[in-house]
Amino acid sequence: MILDRRTFLGAATAAGLAAAGAPLRTALSAHESFNSGKPVSRVAVIGAGIVGASIAYNLSKRGCEVVLIDKKGPAAQASGNSFAWINASWFDMPPSYYALRVHSLNEYHRLAQEVDFPIHWGGSLEWYHTDAEEKEITDGILRTQQLGAPMWMLSEERVAEIEPNLVLGGERKAAYSSRDGAIDSALTTRALVDKVTAHGGSAVYPARVTGIRQQRGKVIVKTDVAPFEVDLAVVAAGAGANEIASMLDLGTDLVKPATPGVIVTTRPMERLINTVCYTTDTHFLQLPDGRLVLGEKAGPPATEQHDAYLADRPNTYPSDELAMQHAARVSAMASRYMPEIADAKVESVSVGWRPLPMDGLPVVGHVPDMPGIYLASMHSGVTLAPIVGHLAAMEILDNARVDLLSDFRVERFLK
Ligand SMILES: Cc1cc2nc3c(=O)[nH]c(=O)nc-3n(C[C@H](O)[C@H](O)[C@H](O)COP(=O)(O)OP(=O)(O)OC[C@H]3O[C@@H](n4cnc5c(N)ncnc54)[C@H](O)[C@@H]3O)c2cc1C
Repeated sequence: MILDRRTFLGAATAAGLAAAGAPLRTALSAHESFNSGKPVSRVAVIGAGIVGASIAYNLSKRGCEVVLIDKKGPAAQASGNSFAWINASWFDMPPSYYALRVHSLNEYHRLAQEVDFPIHWGGSLEWYHTDAEEKEITDGILRTQQLGAPMWMLSEERVAEIEPNLVLGGERKAAYSSRDGAIDSALTTRALVDKVTAHGGSAVYPARVTGIRQQRGKVIVKTDVAPFEVDLAVVAAGAGANEIASMLDLGTDLVKPATPGVIVTTRPMERLINTVCYTTDTHFLQLPDGRLVLGEKAGPPATEQHDAYLADRPNTYPSDELAMQHAARVSAMASRYMPEIADAKVESVSVGWRPLPMDGLPVVGHVPDMPGIYLASMHSGVTLAPIVGHLAAMEILDNARVDLLSDFRVERFLK
C-alpha cells in the first residue's frame, strides 16, 4: 500500500490546519527568515530516495553545488520498493495536505518533460466487498468532492466499460479518481540523480552519515567515507530520519517505526488496465512499460520468526523460494480481480519500508535555531517529491517561506 485511508484518518492531525489552495507566497521578512538570509551555495542532501533526489535536482538546476549522499545508493530504500501511485484522492485529508498533493500532481506534468521519465495517467478505482464499506467510500467521495477533487462513484457497468479486464467481484460500485497516475519510482529517482550529476553535482554512495556538526556558519556532514563541509544539509533520509534527528539533538523523533509492504513486479505485458486498482485485500497497477506492480493490504503476521527476520528492515526475502511463494500468494489474490495476472511472469519481489511521520503528515522545512538544517520526511513521498523539491529549493536558496508548507513544519513536534 499506500496508507489505508482509515489508518491515515486516525494518524493525521487535522486540527487547526489552514484552508486549501493557500497561495505560493515567497515574500521575505526578517522575522520569517529561517536561515538568517545567509547565502547558500553548497548543500549536502542526505538520502538519495525520490524526495532527496528531487530536492537535489531542483537545487542543482538553479546553480547550487550539491553533494547527494546515500548509505546504499539511489532508490535503495522506500523509493525503490514503492507501489508508486501518485494521487490526491485519499478521503478526509486536511485541506492543506490535499492542496500540497494537487500541486505535486501538477508539478509532475512539468517535471516529466524536464527530466524525461514516463508517467501513466489513467486514474484510479477503489472498491470493497460489503455494503457498509461501499457506503463509507461513497460518503468519503462526497467529502473529498468538497475539496474540489475530480472523484465520483461508478456503477459496475461503467467500470466494465473503462476496464474490461477487471472483475469487481459482486455487484459493486467503485470510487473513481480521474486525476491519478503511476510511475516507476526507482527509474524516476535515478533520472533525477543523473540530472544532478549532469548539473555538476556529485552523488556519493555508499556513504553512511555518522554525524552532523554546525560550526562557524558551516555544516560538517561526517560520513564513513569522508566529511563534507557545506552551507546547509537537507535530511531526506526516509525511514532513517530518526537516526539523523538524534545526531542533531532535535529532541523529537520524525518518523514512527517503519512498516513493511510486499511489492511484486511482473515482466511487461500488453496493456491490461489503465487505472490504479485498490480493493479489500490487494492493489495493482500497470506501469508505462507494461510491467504490473502488485501489493497487499495486510502486513506480515506477527510471529517470532517474522519479527526476528524483519528487525533489520531487509528489502529482500531470505531465499528466492520464499520470495516466489509470497509473489504467488499476492498474485493469486489480485488475479481474482484480473484473471490475466495469473499468467504474469514475476520479475522481482521486494519488501519496502514506509517512512511515516509521527502524525502522518509531511515534515518539511528549516529547523528553528539550526539555520544549516532542512528536513524533508514524508509518506506518499512518491506523490509529493516534485512539489517538495521545488518548494524546498525556494526556501533554501531564496530564503522564502512558502505558506503551502506552513502546516508541515517540524515545530509542531518540538516542545
Ligand atoms: C510498500 C510501499 C508502498 C508505497 N506506496 C506509495 C504510493 O503508492 N504512493 C506514494 O506516494 N507513496 C507510497 N509509498 C511511500 C513512498 O514510497 C515514500 O514516502 C517515499 O519513497 C519516501 O522517499 P524518501 O526519499 O523520503 O525515502 P527513501 O526512498 O527511503 O530514501 C531515503 C534514503 O536515505 C538513505 N539514508 C538513510 N539514512 C542514511 C544515513 N545515515 N546516511 C546516508 N543515507 C541514509 C537511505 O539509504 C535511502 O536511500 C509507499 C512505500 C512503501 C514502502
